[in-house]
Amino acid sequence: MDFYPDRVIFEQDALEYPLGKSLWESFKRADIEVIVTRSHNRITGIPGKNPQEAYREAKRTLVFGVRRTLTFQTCKPSAHYQLPLTTSCPGKCEYCYLLGSLPNKPYIRAYVNIEEILEKARDYIVQRQPEVTIFEGSATSDPVPVEKYTGALAKTILFFAIQDFSRFRFATKFTEIDSLLILKHNGHTTVRFSVNTTRIIKSFEHGTPKLEQRLKAARKVIEAGYPTGFIIAPIIAYPGWETDYIDLLKAIRESLPDSQVLSFEFITHRFTVRAKNRIKTLFPNTVLPMNEENRKFKFGQFGYGKYVYAPQLMHRLKETLVSKTEELFPGAKIDYFV
Ligand code: SF4
Repeated sequence: MDFYPDRVIFEQDALEYPLGKSLWESFKRADIEVIVTRSHNRITGIPGKNPQEAYREAKRTLVFGVRRTLTFQTCKPSAHYQLPLTTSCPGKCEYCYLLGSLPNKPYIRAYVNIEEILEKARDYIVQRQPEVTIFEGSATSDPVPVEKYTGALAKTILFFAIQDFSRFRFATKFTEIDSLLILKHNGHTTVRFSVNTTRIIKSFEHGTPKLEQRLKAARKVIEAGYPTGFIIAPIIAYPGWETDYIDLLKAIRESLPDSQVLSFEFITHRFTVRAKNRIKTLFPNTVLPMNEENRKFKFGQFGYGKYVYAPQLMHRLKETLVSKTEELFPGAKIDYFV
Protein backbone atom coordinates (compact mmCIF):
# COMPACT_ATOMS: atom_id res chain seq x y z
CA MET A 1 0.00 0.00 0.00
CA ASP A 2 2.82 2.36 -0.91
CA PHE A 3 1.70 5.97 -1.14
CA TYR A 4 2.36 7.75 -4.46
CA PRO A 5 0.76 11.20 -4.64
CA ASP A 6 -0.84 12.58 -7.84
CA ARG A 7 0.49 16.05 -7.15
CA VAL A 8 3.19 17.48 -4.93
CA ILE A 9 3.21 21.06 -3.67
CA PHE A 10 6.29 22.74 -2.23
CA GLU A 11 6.16 25.76 -0.02
CA GLN A 12 8.77 28.15 -1.38
CA ASP A 13 10.77 28.28 1.88
CA ALA A 14 10.91 24.48 2.03
CA LEU A 15 13.30 24.61 -0.92
CA GLU A 16 15.86 26.35 1.32
CA TYR A 17 16.21 23.17 3.39
CA PRO A 18 18.38 20.25 2.18
CA LEU A 19 15.47 17.80 2.48
CA GLY A 20 13.14 20.14 0.58
CA LYS A 21 15.74 20.63 -2.13
CA SER A 22 16.41 16.92 -2.64
CA LEU A 23 12.69 16.08 -2.64
CA TRP A 24 12.11 18.82 -5.19
CA GLU A 25 14.77 17.38 -7.45
CA SER A 26 13.47 13.83 -7.25
CA PHE A 27 9.82 14.80 -7.79
CA LYS A 28 10.76 17.01 -10.75
CA ARG A 29 12.24 13.93 -12.39
CA ALA A 30 9.08 11.89 -11.76
CA ASP A 31 6.06 12.02 -14.03
CA ILE A 32 3.96 13.97 -11.57
CA GLU A 33 2.44 17.44 -11.14
CA VAL A 34 4.78 19.61 -9.05
CA ILE A 35 3.71 23.06 -7.85
CA VAL A 36 5.41 25.78 -5.77
CA THR A 37 3.36 27.90 -3.39
CA ARG A 38 4.11 30.74 -0.99
CA SER A 39 2.55 29.22 2.12
CA HIS A 40 1.71 25.64 3.06
CA ASN A 41 -1.30 26.97 4.99
CA ARG A 42 -2.97 28.41 1.90
CA ILE A 43 -3.07 25.65 -0.65
CA THR A 44 -5.03 26.22 -3.83
CA GLY A 45 -5.00 24.09 -6.95
CA ILE A 46 -6.52 20.92 -5.52
CA PRO A 47 -9.40 20.04 -7.85
CA GLY A 48 -12.83 18.73 -6.81
CA LYS A 49 -16.32 19.59 -8.06
CA ASN A 50 -18.00 18.45 -4.85
CA PRO A 51 -16.90 17.71 -1.26
CA GLN A 52 -16.34 13.99 -1.95
CA GLU A 53 -14.13 14.65 -4.93
CA ALA A 54 -12.23 17.42 -3.13
CA TYR A 55 -11.61 15.04 -0.22
CA ARG A 56 -10.31 12.27 -2.49
CA GLU A 57 -8.08 14.65 -4.47
CA ALA A 58 -6.69 16.15 -1.26
CA LYS A 59 -5.78 12.66 -0.07
CA ARG A 60 -3.64 12.32 -3.20
CA THR A 61 -1.89 15.65 -2.64
CA LEU A 62 1.37 15.87 -0.76
CA VAL A 63 2.57 19.24 0.51
CA PHE A 64 6.08 19.88 1.81
CA GLY A 65 6.35 22.86 4.12
CA VAL A 66 8.30 24.44 6.95
CA ARG A 67 6.81 24.03 10.41
CA ARG A 68 6.98 27.50 11.95
CA THR A 69 4.78 27.08 15.02
CA LEU A 70 7.10 25.33 17.39
CA THR A 71 4.79 25.38 20.38
CA PHE A 72 3.67 21.80 20.88
CA GLN A 73 0.10 20.98 21.88
CA THR A 74 -0.49 18.82 24.92
CA CYS A 75 -1.62 15.28 24.19
CA LYS A 76 -3.58 13.45 26.88
CA PRO A 77 -3.94 10.58 27.71
CA SER A 78 -1.24 8.97 25.58
CA ALA A 79 1.62 11.48 26.01
CA HIS A 80 2.65 14.89 27.34
CA TYR A 81 3.08 16.60 23.95
CA GLN A 82 2.27 16.11 20.30
CA LEU A 83 5.30 15.94 18.05
CA PRO A 84 4.21 17.52 14.76
CA LEU A 85 5.96 15.68 11.94
CA THR A 86 3.13 15.31 9.41
CA THR A 87 -0.55 16.19 9.06
CA SER A 88 -3.32 14.04 7.56
CA CYS A 89 -2.72 10.74 5.79
CA PRO A 90 -3.60 9.00 2.52
CA GLY A 91 -6.02 6.60 4.27
CA LYS A 92 -9.73 7.32 4.02
CA CYS A 93 -11.20 5.91 7.22
CA GLU A 94 -14.81 7.00 7.59
CA TYR A 95 -14.37 7.59 11.31
CA CYS A 96 -10.95 9.22 11.08
CA TYR A 97 -10.16 11.05 14.34
CA LEU A 98 -8.82 13.95 12.27
CA LEU A 99 -12.03 14.65 10.33
CA GLY A 100 -13.11 17.38 12.71
CA SER A 101 -9.78 19.19 12.92
CA LEU A 102 -8.51 19.15 9.33
CA PRO A 103 -9.64 21.49 6.54
CA ASN A 104 -12.25 20.43 3.96
CA LYS A 105 -9.38 19.44 1.71
CA PRO A 106 -7.26 17.35 4.10
CA TYR A 107 -4.10 17.30 1.99
CA ILE A 108 -1.09 15.52 3.42
CA ARG A 109 1.53 17.83 4.80
CA ALA A 110 5.07 16.89 5.76
CA TYR A 111 7.68 19.19 7.23
CA VAL A 112 11.21 19.53 5.93
CA ASN A 113 12.66 21.21 9.07
CA ILE A 114 12.63 18.06 11.19
CA GLU A 115 15.88 19.02 12.94
CA GLU A 116 14.29 22.29 14.17
CA ILE A 117 11.23 20.41 15.41
CA LEU A 118 13.44 17.99 17.33
CA GLU A 119 15.51 20.84 18.79
CA LYS A 120 12.27 22.28 20.17
CA ALA A 121 11.42 18.87 21.63
CA ARG A 122 14.78 19.00 23.38
CA ASP A 123 13.78 22.30 25.06
CA TYR A 124 10.60 20.70 26.40
CA ILE A 125 12.58 17.72 27.69
CA VAL A 126 15.12 19.92 29.48
CA GLN A 127 12.36 22.00 31.08
CA ARG A 128 10.71 18.92 32.59
CA GLN A 129 13.69 16.78 33.53
CA PRO A 130 14.22 14.75 35.69
CA GLU A 131 10.60 13.93 34.82
CA VAL A 132 10.35 11.80 31.69
CA THR A 133 8.54 13.60 28.86
CA ILE A 134 6.57 11.54 26.36
CA PHE A 135 5.92 12.73 22.79
CA GLU A 136 3.19 11.38 20.50
CA GLY A 137 4.00 11.27 16.78
CA SER A 138 0.54 10.46 15.45
CA ALA A 139 -1.74 13.07 17.00
CA THR A 140 -2.15 14.88 13.69
CA SER A 141 -1.51 12.11 11.16
CA ASP A 142 -0.47 8.58 10.47
CA PRO A 143 3.24 9.30 9.99
CA VAL A 144 4.23 6.06 8.21
CA PRO A 145 3.00 6.57 4.60
CA VAL A 146 5.27 9.59 3.96
CA GLU A 147 8.26 8.17 5.82
CA LYS A 148 9.84 6.97 2.57
CA TYR A 149 9.98 10.60 1.41
CA THR A 150 11.06 12.42 4.57
CA GLY A 151 12.78 9.87 6.83
CA ALA A 152 11.25 11.91 9.68
CA LEU A 153 10.37 8.93 11.86
CA ALA A 154 13.86 7.48 11.50
CA LYS A 155 15.45 10.79 12.53
CA THR A 156 13.04 11.07 15.43
CA ILE A 157 13.65 7.53 16.64
CA LEU A 158 17.42 8.10 16.58
CA PHE A 159 17.00 11.42 18.40
CA PHE A 160 14.95 9.82 21.19
CA ALA A 161 17.27 6.82 21.42
CA ILE A 162 19.85 9.05 23.13
CA GLN A 163 17.44 10.98 25.38
CA ASP A 164 17.53 9.82 28.99
CA PHE A 165 14.51 11.87 30.01
CA SER A 166 12.15 11.30 27.15
CA ARG A 167 10.26 8.69 25.14
CA PHE A 168 8.55 8.72 21.77
CA ARG A 169 5.47 6.82 20.59
CA PHE A 170 3.50 6.71 17.42
CA ALA A 171 0.57 4.71 16.05
CA THR A 172 -0.11 3.47 12.55
CA LYS A 173 -2.37 1.40 10.35
CA PHE A 174 0.30 1.25 7.66
CA THR A 175 3.02 -1.30 7.12
CA GLU A 176 6.01 0.30 5.32
CA ILE A 177 8.16 0.14 8.42
CA ASP A 178 11.17 -1.79 7.08
CA SER A 179 13.44 1.28 7.10
CA LEU A 180 12.85 1.57 10.87
CA LEU A 181 13.81 -1.99 11.72
CA ILE A 182 17.57 -1.51 11.53
CA LEU A 183 17.68 1.61 13.70
CA LYS A 184 19.35 1.72 17.09
CA HIS A 185 16.23 2.78 19.00
CA ASN A 186 17.32 1.80 22.53
CA GLY A 187 13.75 0.81 23.36
CA HIS A 188 12.81 4.50 23.65
CA THR A 189 10.17 4.41 20.89
CA THR A 190 6.90 2.51 21.22
CA VAL A 191 5.14 1.51 18.02
CA ARG A 192 1.41 0.83 18.22
CA PHE A 193 -0.63 -0.74 15.46
CA SER A 194 -4.21 0.38 15.12
CA VAL A 195 -6.35 -2.66 14.30
CA ASN A 196 -9.98 -3.69 14.08
CA THR A 197 -12.06 -6.68 13.04
CA THR A 198 -11.75 -7.72 9.40
CA ARG A 199 -15.36 -6.70 8.82
CA ILE A 200 -14.85 -3.20 10.21
CA ILE A 201 -11.60 -2.65 8.31
CA LYS A 202 -13.25 -3.72 5.07
CA SER A 203 -16.33 -1.58 5.62
CA PHE A 204 -14.80 1.67 6.90
CA GLU A 205 -10.99 1.88 6.62
CA HIS A 206 -10.62 2.58 2.90
CA GLY A 207 -7.12 2.80 1.51
CA THR A 208 -5.43 1.10 4.46
CA PRO A 209 -3.63 -2.27 4.70
CA LYS A 210 -5.51 -5.44 5.70
CA LEU A 211 -5.36 -6.83 9.23
CA GLU A 212 -2.96 -9.65 8.25
CA GLN A 213 -0.52 -7.15 6.74
CA ARG A 214 -0.62 -4.99 9.89
CA LEU A 215 0.03 -8.04 12.06
CA LYS A 216 2.96 -9.04 9.87
CA ALA A 217 4.42 -5.54 10.26
CA ALA A 218 3.85 -5.72 14.03
CA ARG A 219 5.80 -8.95 14.19
CA LYS A 220 8.73 -7.34 12.38
CA VAL A 221 8.68 -4.40 14.78
CA ILE A 222 8.66 -6.74 17.78
CA GLU A 223 11.53 -8.76 16.33
CA ALA A 224 13.46 -5.51 15.92
CA GLY A 225 13.09 -5.04 19.69
CA TYR A 226 10.69 -2.09 19.77
CA PRO A 227 8.21 -1.86 22.63
CA THR A 228 4.99 -2.61 20.76
CA GLY A 229 1.29 -2.21 21.35
CA PHE A 230 -2.13 -2.36 19.76
CA ILE A 231 -4.86 0.22 19.62
CA ILE A 232 -8.21 -1.45 19.12
CA ALA A 233 -10.35 1.38 17.85
CA PRO A 234 -13.04 2.22 17.28
CA ILE A 235 -14.76 -0.73 18.91
CA ILE A 236 -18.16 -0.97 17.23
CA ALA A 237 -20.93 -3.02 18.83
CA TYR A 238 -22.47 -4.49 15.67
CA PRO A 239 -24.38 -7.79 15.71
CA GLY A 240 -21.76 -10.48 16.25
CA TRP A 241 -19.16 -8.11 17.77
CA GLU A 242 -18.23 -10.48 20.61
CA THR A 243 -17.09 -13.27 18.30
CA ASP A 244 -15.34 -10.91 15.89
CA TYR A 245 -13.40 -8.98 18.54
CA ILE A 246 -12.39 -12.20 20.31
CA ASP A 247 -11.22 -13.54 16.93
CA LEU A 248 -9.23 -10.34 16.46
CA LEU A 249 -7.46 -10.83 19.80
CA LYS A 250 -6.77 -14.47 18.90
CA ALA A 251 -5.35 -13.42 15.53
CA ILE A 252 -2.99 -11.01 17.27
CA ARG A 253 -1.95 -13.75 19.70
CA GLU A 254 -1.33 -16.31 16.95
CA SER A 255 0.71 -14.00 14.78
CA LEU A 256 3.13 -12.80 17.44
CA PRO A 257 5.88 -14.34 19.56
CA ASP A 258 4.72 -15.51 23.01
CA SER A 259 7.38 -13.75 24.98
CA GLN A 260 6.52 -10.20 24.01
CA VAL A 261 4.87 -7.90 26.56
CA LEU A 262 2.38 -5.84 24.62
CA SER A 263 0.41 -2.75 25.51
CA PHE A 264 -3.26 -2.30 24.61
CA GLU A 265 -5.43 0.79 24.18
CA PHE A 266 -9.18 0.38 23.69
CA ILE A 267 -11.41 3.12 22.31
CA THR A 268 -15.13 2.53 21.81
CA HIS A 269 -16.89 4.25 18.94
CA ARG A 270 -18.17 7.75 19.69
CA PHE A 271 -19.22 10.66 17.50
CA THR A 272 -20.16 14.31 17.66
CA VAL A 273 -22.99 15.80 15.63
CA ARG A 274 -20.39 17.73 13.65
CA ALA A 275 -18.42 14.57 12.81
CA LYS A 276 -21.60 12.73 11.85
CA ASN A 277 -22.56 15.48 9.40
CA ARG A 278 -19.09 15.50 7.91
CA ILE A 279 -19.04 11.71 7.53
CA LYS A 280 -22.43 11.78 5.82
CA THR A 281 -21.20 14.45 3.41
CA LEU A 282 -17.97 12.69 2.52
CA PHE A 283 -19.38 9.16 2.51
CA PRO A 284 -23.05 9.55 1.48
CA ASN A 285 -23.59 5.78 1.48
CA THR A 286 -22.00 5.17 4.85
CA VAL A 287 -23.38 2.37 6.99
CA LEU A 288 -21.48 3.51 10.07
CA PRO A 289 -23.92 3.18 12.98
CA MET A 290 -24.50 6.73 14.28
CA ASN A 291 -27.99 6.68 15.71
CA GLU A 292 -28.18 9.14 18.61
CA GLU A 293 -31.16 7.30 20.12
CA ASN A 294 -29.05 4.26 20.99
CA ARG A 295 -26.36 6.33 22.63
CA LYS A 296 -25.59 8.26 25.77
CA PHE A 297 -24.80 11.95 25.40
CA LYS A 298 -21.68 13.06 27.20
CA PHE A 299 -20.01 16.47 27.42
CA GLY A 300 -16.46 16.40 26.11
CA GLN A 301 -13.50 18.28 27.58
CA PHE A 302 -13.81 21.10 25.00
CA GLY A 303 -17.44 21.84 25.76
CA TYR A 304 -19.06 20.03 22.82
CA GLY A 305 -20.99 16.84 23.37
CA LYS A 306 -20.36 13.38 22.02
CA TYR A 307 -22.47 10.26 21.72
CA VAL A 308 -20.99 7.19 23.39
CA TYR A 309 -22.44 3.73 24.03
CA ALA A 310 -24.94 3.37 26.89
CA PRO A 311 -23.34 2.35 30.23
CA GLN A 312 -24.58 -1.26 30.17
CA LEU A 313 -23.23 -1.93 26.70
CA MET A 314 -20.01 -0.11 27.54
CA HIS A 315 -19.61 -2.38 30.55
CA ARG A 316 -20.12 -5.52 28.42
CA LEU A 317 -17.65 -4.33 25.80
CA LYS A 318 -15.04 -3.62 28.44
CA GLU A 319 -15.63 -6.84 30.35
CA THR A 320 -15.41 -8.96 27.17
CA LEU A 321 -12.36 -7.34 25.64
CA VAL A 322 -10.31 -6.74 28.75
CA SER A 323 -10.85 -10.22 30.21
CA LYS A 324 -10.01 -11.90 26.89
CA THR A 325 -6.90 -9.74 26.55
CA GLU A 326 -5.77 -10.69 30.06
CA GLU A 327 -6.38 -14.35 29.29
CA LEU A 328 -4.52 -14.37 25.96
CA PHE A 329 -1.73 -11.94 26.88
CA PRO A 330 -0.77 -12.51 30.51
CA GLY A 331 1.17 -9.51 31.79
CA ALA A 332 -0.03 -7.23 28.99
CA LYS A 333 -0.30 -3.56 29.85
CA ILE A 334 -3.82 -2.23 29.38
CA ASP A 335 -3.25 1.51 29.08
CA TYR A 336 -6.89 2.55 29.00
CA PHE A 337 -10.39 1.59 27.89
CA VAL A 338 -12.63 4.49 26.95
S1 SF4 B 1 -5.23 5.81 8.90
FE1 SF4 B 1 -5.61 7.07 10.75
S2 SF4 B 1 -5.08 9.17 10.12
FE2 SF4 B 1 -5.34 7.97 8.25
S3 SF4 B 1 -7.47 8.25 7.63
FE3 SF4 B 1 -7.40 6.39 8.88
S4 SF4 B 1 -7.84 7.08 10.98
FE4 SF4 B 1 -7.30 8.91 9.77
